[in-house]
Amino acid sequence: ATFMRMKEDAMNNGQTKPGYNLQIGTENQFILNYALFPNPTDTLTYIPFMYSFAARYGHLASTEVADSGYGSEENYRFMEENGIEAYVKYNMFHKEQRMHYAPSPFHQDSFFYNAEQDYYVCPMGQHMERIGTKLDKTANGYQTESVRYRAQNCEGCPLRGSCFKAKGNRVIEVNHRLKEYKRKASERLTSEDGIKHRGRRCIEPEAVFGQMKADYGYKRFRHFGKDKVEMDFAFFAIAFNLKKMC
Ligand code: SF4
Repeated sequence: ATFMRMKEDAMNNGQTKPGYNLQIGTENQFILNYALFPNPTDTLTYIPFMYSFAARYGHLASTEVADSGYGSEENYRFMEENGIEAYVKYNMFHKEQRMHYAPSPFHQDSFFYNAEQDYYVCPMGQHMERIGTKLDKTANGYQTESVRYRAQNCEGCPLRGSCFKAKGNRVIEVNHRLKEYKRKASERLTSEDGIKHRGRRCIEPEAVFGQMKADYGYKRFRHFGKDKVEMDFAFFAIAFNLKKMC
């Protein structure tokens, strides 16, 4: 178990308590799969959770719906490579769907991009040329690549105050692969099927968690150690599913 911030915070001081990050997969409010993780971030649990599903059923899920906590480049790539029909949001998805949403003209996503010649155009009309790439590693060890583009001369630009704060000429970093994954995710999420699946997500795992915690008072594991806690939850899941069948 790892010390984590819990949703219930009686002292209101962000106190941490030892616990596990419990992930569940549901269909029609039946618990299909569960797994416990020592890390509090959902993003990192997605791929191992999918493998635990495959170990249980002999194949990966063909269609998946998940919230924005799982929308990372690594996860999108996994879904694409494994042919999963995924309806998985990313952090800005809800904001983008608002009727009057208009991104700042100084945000790099608003800049025109010439894909053929690989340059951006800033709000002042300057070409931002590619100056290199930046490699990063996620906590899972997955390597991401961002391309860096730099404006030619920001000195004396009348828009500089609104555009950026750093010294020198503006540099932007763009992860093209992630951008493309997000574009595809948005297309899928706003399709007819996507709207239907999104509508069901909040009555799937959330409803199961609600019944588990509020109705059955299952808010604490009754054992210590991952293997025993897994057994603890397995009994709960079996009982929950049987009750649902009845
Ligand atoms: S500050 Fe630089 S990047 Fe921003 S609009 Fe002006 S020239 Fe373009």
